Amino acid sequence: MHRLARLSILLEAEGYQVQVVHCIDARAAGAAVQERRFDAALLDAGLADGRLLTLLGKIGSPDRATPLYFLAERQSYAEARKLSEIGARTYLAGGTRLEEQLALDMLAARHRIVDSQPATAGPTTGNLDVLPRERLVAAMETLLARGRTKRHALAYLCLDIQDFRGINRLFGHRIADTVIRAVGQRLRANIRAADLIGHLGGDRFAIVLTQRTSLDAAKAVARKLLDLFAEPVNVSGETFRLNVVIGVTAAPDHGSSVDELLVAADTATESAKANPTSIASFAGTTQGDPATLHALSTDLHLAADRDEYLLYYQPKIDLASGSLCGAEALIRWQHPTRGRLSPDIFIPIAERNGSIEALTRWAMRRALRDRAALAAQGCFIPISVNLSAASLRSWRIVACIEETLREEAAPPGALSFEVTESVLIRDIDRARAVLTAVRDLGASISIDDFGAGYSSIGYLRTLPIDEIKIDRSLIATMLNSPRDRAIVHSIVDLGRALGFAVVAEGVEDQRTMQALTELGCATAQGYYISPPVQIDVFDQWRRGQSAERRRAAG
Ligand code: C2E
Ligand code: CA
Ligand code: CA
Repeated sequence: MHRLARLSILLEAEGYQVQVVHCIDARAAGAAVQERRFDAALLDAGLADGRLLTLLGKIGSPDRATPLYFLAERQSYAEARKLSEIGARTYLAGGTRLEEQLALDMLAARHRIVDSQPATAGPTTGNLDVLPRERLVAAMETLLARGRTKRHALAYLCLDIQDFRGINRLFGHRIADTVIRAVGQRLRANIRAADLIGHLGGDRFAIVLTQRTSLDAAKAVARKLLDLFAEPVNVSGETFRLNVVIGVTAAPDHGSSVDELLVAADTATESAKANPTSIASFAGTTQGDPATLHALSTDLHLAADRDEYLLYYQPKIDLASGSLCGAEALIRWQHPTRGRLSPDIFIPIAERNGSIEALTRWAMRRALRDRAALAAQGCFIPISVNLSAASLRSWRIVACIEETLREEAAPPGALSFEVTESVLIRDIDRARAVLTAVRDLGASISIDDFGAGYSSIGYLRTLPIDEIKIDRSLIATMLNSPRDRAIVHSIVDLGRALGFAVVAEGVEDQRTMQALTELGCATAQGYYISPPVQIDVFDQWRRGQSAERRRAAG
């Protein structure tokens, strides 16, 4: 068995979660260790150059919460000594029962760390760190349990950096990571020690005001935090002016469980994006032109029943053979007076006003009927339907999918669901459970927009996934940016290693398609192949394409 798999099994039996983070170089590895606050980290000694050692050495040894282990093919005494200086241990790959020894040492280190903490220390007495999501959620659970009988047990603020993708794209992930860290530190330095701050992943932070706070007081804190970003963030000689928005919620008014609060805060944050003050509380103001929004929102409730939606299809092709291997269904709304609307306009409204479920149901049904019509002509391809962020937070989606599949008598494998990466990271446990249930219904799961945000691929192993779709921003830049090309390459390799299908989306020209083929990417989708089109045009395209392939084959 693969060494890592074996070690994972041993550690998981001890209640650890093992995350694999693929790092391109030493700096990325250093940043990952620094940022994630793992219980322990096992690194490839091949990465251990001077830079990594300096970085790791700086993490602050005396109270280091992350014991470090290195795995080396071979190592000189001098190299081992350097590692031991930063408190790390090395294991040689050839050793027998290596995994057992490593697991035992990791466990021993855990006991040492836990024992060395003062008995009173705990997340609720104030924590001067930026917590990872799981630890923040655990701390909130404790606080909520404690404050169940009181009003305003706590306030939960969600801070979102706008247009962070742009920073990722223009400056690269490393600088983007550093900006994220700087934001975390700035927030930490400006809230009370008793309050908590967590990094929710991507460009989102959470601030929990743990002392009884009114909603107005929480909004005042939000304003103060917002003001902090009037000052730009300086990283690597660059100046970043960040545009942040904050959604404000309070328990128990907006929810009495962590889940409810997180959902409320997401909604509030969405509203904040459109609010001129950049702050909104849950059920607070809606965006931009309220009259238009209100009208659209009302109309959306009727759109599915009135059959005003249209489903467009965009083919996915197998790069090796050029043959059609699937299609993504993309919804449009033919509004009675406003014309054909893009999903970017109405999906966010549907998510907020609760009509998203009807929309998804409509899309699934339409997709299944069109798929059946194609199958009747001998074209058996799975259709991918997009699932929205909001849907994945509730179990209702599972029943909704099950009913639709049953009503349409769909064979297993008829549908595939695309879910975006950011949603998964935000609530990984819930997402994992819901996706597993969906997959048990015979649908496959695809991770959409992969690589777009600031994220790691470590969680992939723990999710029920069949396919990853490389975000079109990376595909668009891969020819001009060696860095992005390397990222695309590593995603392709990773997908292969983990047994996922890998699809490149947003392929706009022949050269990109060629480059993807060279990297070993199996599947492509994009305007160069075909834009999304209605089913009759799709069918024509399909026939033309298969005729062409028959001709080419002679
Ligand atoms: P997405 O899932 O990332 O869908 C791909 C988007 O990229 C589509 O935009 C598609 O038209 C566009 N695209 C395809 N090829 C190319 C290309 O070569 N270059 C460029 N620049 N773009 C390309 P569309 O159809 O406007 O959809 C936007 C988003 O709306 C989708 O992003 C998806 O998140 C959401 N969406 C669409 N249909 C549904 C649906 O039925 N349910 C839900 N929940 N969301 C949907
Ligand atoms: Ca998609
Ligand atoms: Ca996408």
